Amino acid sequence: MTLNSTHQSAEDWDICIIPDAARSLRILVVDDDPSDRELYRYLLAADPKYTYVLLETGLGKKAIEICKTERFDCVLLDYYLSDLNGVQILDSLNTLFSGSVPIIMLTGQGSETIAVDSLRSGAVDYLPKRQVSAESLKRAVNNAVEKSYLRNAVVDQNDKLKRQNTELTRKHDEIQRFYQTVSHELKTPLTSMKEFVSIILDGIAGPISDEQREYLELVHESCLQMANDVNDLLDVTRLETGKYRIDLSPTDPTDLLSNVYRQMQVLARDKSIDLSLKTPQKLPEIPMDQRRIEQVLTNLLSNAIKFTNKQGKIEISACAQQDESVEISVSDTGCGIDPDDLKHIFERLYQVSSESGFESMASSKSGLGLGLTISKELINLHGGELRAESEVGKGSRFIVSLPAYWNTAKAS
Ligand code: ADP
Repeated sequence: MTLNSTHQSAEDWDICIIPDAARSLRILVVDDDPSDRELYRYLLAADPKYTYVLLETGLGKKAIEICKTERFDCVLLDYYLSDLNGVQILDSLNTLFSGSVPIIMLTGQGSETIAVDSLRSGAVDYLPKRQVSAESLKRAVNNAVEKSYLRNAVVDQNDKLKRQNTELTRKHDEIQRFYQTVSHELKTPLTSMKEFVSIILDGIAGPISDEQREYLELVHESCLQMANDVNDLLDVTRLETGKYRIDLSPTDPTDLLSNVYRQMQVLARDKSIDLSLKTPQKLPEIPMDQRRIEQVLTNLLSNAIKFTNKQGKIEISACAQQDESVEISVSDTGCGIDPDDLKHIFERLYQVSSESGFESMASSKSGLGLGLTISKELINLHGGELRAESEVGKGSRFIVSLPAYWNTAKAS
């Protein structure tokens, strides 16, 4: 026998704690029939799994009162009491415990309406008194307690995750603000450095030697690279905080591609790369922010040039798709990307490690690993898609798909 309890009058209650219990469950019994209470005590005895600490009362109001200060693992509640009915008590107890303590309803009449009423009002189980046995009562209590423990553990875990999520969001916002402030602070001195170096290079501040010119050109190049990195940082923070605005207007993609092609020819020629453009005579107009799409294509092309060896080939092509979109692709015969890296290249700050023997990889250090992240976000803002295909040693293909109709593009 692992249970003990003092006999209660309907107006009274008491707690009996079983010493040396392997695991005690605190049960509140609310029933105005002393013989029923005695029966539960008897039925709950000698459970190999738990010992029970029973607290008994015959009054609903007393039960509510004690639940304001005491915690229980389970409540056994008679539906008909002399002062309150079961549903009223259920409501009050569930409010007090915030639904975290299981309540099992017991009643003399095994009516279905009462069962449905009880379960609707928040009881976890229902037992007709006539059918209560040691086995059914223990099973009902144990199931209810174990389910409730699991449920409470999930609720606790959820609360913990919510708190961690709030903290992560706070830290993320802080980092974004930091990025933004630092980028802004760097931008102004960088612009003056670039301008002053240009003034000296142009000879406006007096003559300079060839050696000085050579060094200043390196400084100028570094300033341009830093300015690009700072712009990337600003772009990525604005995109991630939803502060990036695009201005859509109908644009002929053929003109845009010819422009970008002409601009990038110089860089390609410097590396003896064969850059070609293949577009059909007519392509549908695309609603786009021209400057942003140019930015994306320039990024894809400068990557292609960066990761393609001398004498390699790069092709820009475009074609209209059946789903009223236009697909623009930039294909190169460069070093290609390993499938494991390919999965991550659109992630912010991701750069492929330069272990490959390709000479182009050696010069790939410039950049922060933000270019593709920004490009993808910009294409998403147009309601389009940017994806990549690649094979190590053979080359890569970046495909921009843009809707050629207005309703999908997200103007803002
Ligand atoms: P970054 O701004 O530093 O160039 P990107 O986001 O543009 O970074 O590119 C991320 C990484 O993807 C690069 O570091 C490079 O390893 C890989 N990558 C991008 N384009 C190509 C390409 N055409 N061929 C091979 N690797 C590429």
